[in-house]
Amino acid sequence: FSKNYFEILETREQLPITAQKENFVKLLEENQVIILTGETGSGKTTQIPQYILEAGYSYGGKYRICCTQPRRVAALSVATRVSEEMDVELGSEVGYTIRFEDKSSPETLVKYLTDGMLLREAMIDNNLSQYSVIIIDEAHERTISTDILFGLLKQLLTTTRKDDLKVIVMSATIEHKLFQEYFNNAPHLDVTGRVYPVDIFYLEEGENDYVSGVIKTSVEIHLSEPKGDVLIFLTGQEEIEDCCERLYWRLCDSKSSEIGEFEIIPLYAALPYYEQKKAFMPTPDDKITTLQNGEKKTLYGRKFIIATNIAETSLTIQGIVYVIDPGFSKQKVFDPKKRVESLLVSPISRASANQRKGRAGRTQSGKCFRLYTKKTFEQLERQTIPELLRSNLGPVLLNMKKMGIINLLMFDYLSPPSIDLLVRALETNHYLGGLDEDGELTELGHQISSFPLDPQLAKMLIKSQQYDCCDEILTIVAMLSTPNCFIRPRKRRKQADQARARFIDCNSDHLTLLNVYNEYFTIQKNQKNQWCKQNFINNRTMYQAVNIRKQLFNILRRLDLYRKSYNDYSKNQSLIELKIKKCLVEGFFMQTAYKLKRKKYLIVRDKQQVLVYPGSSIQFFRDWILFHEFVLTERNYIRTCTSIEGQWLVDIAPHYYETSKFSNGRVKSALESLHRQRKSA
Ligand code: ADP
Ligand code: MG
Repeated sequence: FSKNYFEILETREQLPITAQKENFVKLLEENQVIILTGETGSGKTTQIPQYILEAGYSYGGKYRICCTQPRRVAALSVATRVSEEMDVELGSEVGYTIRFEDKSSPETLVKYLTDGMLLREAMIDNNLSQYSVIIIDEAHERTISTDILFGLLKQLLTTTRKDDLKVIVMSATIEHKLFQEYFNNAPHLDVTGRVYPVDIFYLEEGENDYVSGVIKTSVEIHLSEPKGDVLIFLTGQEEIEDCCERLYWRLCDSKSSEIGEFEIIPLYAALPYYEQKKAFMPTPDDKITTLQNGEKKTLYGRKFIIATNIAETSLTIQGIVYVIDPGFSKQKVFDPKKRVESLLVSPISRASANQRKGRAGRTQSGKCFRLYTKKTFEQLERQTIPELLRSNLGPVLLNMKKMGIINLLMFDYLSPPSIDLLVRALETNHYLGGLDEDGELTELGHQISSFPLDPQLAKMLIKSQQYDCCDEILTIVAMLSTPNCFIRPRKRRKQADQARARFIDCNSDHLTLLNVYNEYFTIQKNQKNQWCKQNFINNRTMYQAVNIRKQLFNILRRLDLYRKSYNDYSKNQSLIELKIKKCLVEGFFMQTAYKLKRKKYLIVRDKQQVLVYPGSSIQFFRDWILFHEFVLTERNYIRTCTSIEGQWLVDIAPHYYETSKFSNGRVKSALESLHRQRKSA
């Protein structure tokens, strides 16, 4: 055993869940399904799989135990931690699988994976037969994948896996009744240990600029509150980075009076793992200073962790005494009438606010600063609405079909989505060609669902052979599957924009991404980092893109749909670009907009007015444009766009562009003339 092992063992034994170990094992023997709740940090995610393993449910290594997580970061972090606890190498007995990354092997007995990955596994093996115990963790988050897994597992438990599958549903201390009822009154065990009281502070008056509020509160805590680390909830990467920087300078400024050492640590999903690990590092030491009157005073060292929702329940950080909660998170919002889905900064639910608060009371009594009024709190939704009820179901629908779920309307959902939402999703997939008239998977539908991608992206890949541009589309899809590659540091925006100009294609963000990748690819391995720095390109994004591209390439080749494209850019660049753009239309013909004036467009399918995103490469605003994403902020934007010819739309998707469906005068007459041209051609 490593030196570390015994140290860790000691901490493990102090976890609240340890007291419930025997209870749990007994319940496991006697029941097929168990609902387990416990406050964040009780030890559910790290300990339960180990208890199950110790109790012999891998049947001598014949079966695996898996534990789902809604977030990639959590799967990776927890698997790493458990491999340390068990003193084994990550990827051997303990492993993880997340999209585009598999760190497991045939020996793996405990596997952490995203709920989305378990769904993918269910598409290949409908019975999930390699697992003896399946743990659905963070069930209260009610992600789409988790909700669909519920239905699927319920079906398995009463049909093909009646005798040899156990299911454990784990969640924060809410909603257990709902889960119990759904699973035929399964027993419930709560493993929360001691919880300390947390004082809640509200604002007297609402505050508009919550980032400033966060900074003000943080400085006050650091200057006047006793020892304890601070956890701050913000909504996304940019906001967090911005806040880190501002807080840093504000604290430095206040150094004219002496203050304790501090460490500011960002925590969000796109951060590399070694950066995330910093959240678990020890707090800076206290300092003792002598005041003018000769008295000694302790200046407390403090960690400030500024995190997205990942710190709400998925990741446990010890030693948090103060929580600052502005009351917002980024949530997926889908409007089935308008058919647009977007990530929106939205108010959290009361349940969520209480989870956040709870993070302050794990090791001693704490304080929670809510940057909103008590009245606002009372007006929040009680629970977060399940994702399934507010998402575009298009992408999951084909997958459900492939999992052997025959009737999507009659499926036993924990909370059934509206018929409207389901019908829209069926329709989208039908237009795309994945489902036939009767709602059955077509050959194309099977192919599409082989890719861990949105159906539109998958279809583009599948069609790329016809357009002789497999390699280019592989690259574009890989780049679209990673976070933004362009870096724009606050202080060096001008240089960053200058560096970027070289890659820009004035008619297409997609081609701009292709240009970045193609040049990156030609750079020698040991100079890639340097190149990224010089060009203000995110190194990690590029690294990821290479990796993702490789995997997509393998799938494409396995389906026998890959053909190397021998495109000679020096000879006929415009022809090649034409083919690429047409291929984009194959996937994204439902995401197009028609020009009103300058940057202002009208989304074809829902008549919504939008602007081309300010950071776009597009400089010539043509009549028709295709977009990858719809972004809703204070204004409506379309992001990652390519100018296209209207003619391609009626050629490639004549059924979708039947004029009778479009009531808007401008779009309708434009389409009519395109149809006439098509006929005469
Ligand atoms: P729960 O799932 O009930 O929220 P976990 O099993 O995730 O609880 O965490 C239990 C404890 O394990 C935490 O309180 C923390 O001390 C420790 N822990 C978990 N992950 C890590 C990590 N990556 N590094 C260090 N400690 C960790
Ligand atoms: Mg957990």
